[in-house]
Amino acid sequence: MTQLTVADTKEMFLYVADQLIDSKESLCEIDGRIGDGDHGFGIERGFQAIKQTISSKSYETINEIYKDIGMVMLRSMGGASGVIFSSMFLGVSPLPVFETLNTKSLFEMMRKGLEKVKGKGKAELGDKTMVDAFEPAVNALEQYLDTDLEVSLRHAVHAAEEGVNKTKEYMAKHGRAKFLYERSVGVQDAGATTVLLIFKAMYEYVSMK
Ligand code: ADP
Ligand code: MG
Repeated sequence: MTQLTVADTKEMFLYVADQLIDSKESLCEIDGRIGDGDHGFGIERGFQAIKQTISSKSYETINEIYKDIGMVMLRSMGGASGVIFSSMFLGVSPLPVFETLNTKSLFEMMRKGLEKVKGKGKAELGDKTMVDAFEPAVNALEQYLDTDLEVSLRHAVHAAEEGVNKTKEYMAKHGRAKFLYERSVGVQDAGATTVLLIFKAMYEYVSMK
């Protein structure tokens, strides 16, 4: 059964950060097609700050890692997307303390993150936002709750990938792209792509473990 310790989980997020930092240009390019082309900059800034903060600290629980990631994203990314993306990691306070990352604990934390994202941004499935990748990924974790972390994450990645592809068909209802109306159809959403890359990097780390 693949499961990660607190130290492994920190290492996983350092790996995730490196992958997202490397995706800066492609995320800006995707955002530039219907947005203002800055999404990769915000994400790069956020994940550089995450690296800096978490690499020098030692953690007792996974909840603390999540909280640090969320707070650092909120502070460093700024703006509306800082609020949205940090919320992915900021729902953990009411949860029990986790010292192991497995499918169940990951699902609990991500489900709370999804609730927080939807509470802040008011986006629903089909609105052409990061929710279109995040919600299917969380649902996939729930569906594979009793399976190995590597397996459930693989399903979550597939679900997020499908979600990103579907965003091409949707008309944007939030963010800058909503002013483009039907011109936003045909282009994938940048934030949904970021969610896919986060899950993909988590899966890669776990499968290399
Ligand atoms: P900005 O729109 O301020 O330029 P970014 O380019 O960093 O911010 O992020 C844009 C992404 O944010 C979009 O691709 C979308 O996925 C996500 N987003 C925008 N508004 C919302 C919202 N209300 N709820 C969820 N995600 C959103
Ligand atoms: Mg933008």
